[in-house]
Amino acid sequence: MTPECIFCDIVNGHTDTEVLYETDDLIVFKDINPHAPVHLLVVPKKHIRSINDLSPTDDVIVSALIAAGRHMAQESGVALSGYKLVFNVERGGGQMIFHLHLHLLGGWKR
Ligand code: AMP
Ligand code: ZN
Repeated sequence: MTPECIFCDIVNGHTDTEVLYETDDLIVFKDINPHAPVHLLVVPKKHIRSINDLSPTDDVIVSALIAAGRHMAQESGVALSGYKLVFNVERGGGQMIFHLHLHLLGGWKR
């Protein structure tokens, strides 16, 4: 856990955030400022700053994030219509919260 990290606070149950899905490695919750009809965040329990900071032993975490994104796309009913899985990396890539997370975005009308 890293001090003053909002996502560590959520992981540790220190907020009233509703957790939609949880495994040993990650949690999923709704983005507070959604950019799509379905906008969820898949967040590893381990504090990792960004994709740049992954070590080789973290590969299993990245696979778990993607698998959870796919699972939640199915659960949210957007798997067939389509969705985006996005990692923003550092400030130039739009990252605002420096605890690794995968955005699941979908549900737009076609
Ligand atoms: P990023 O720009 O990739 O770092 O994305 C961070 C995302 O976290 C943004 O889409 C925010 O709306 C979202 N966010 C920030 N604080 C919270 C929170 N307390 N609960 C849920 N989502 C949050
Ligand atoms: Zn953190």
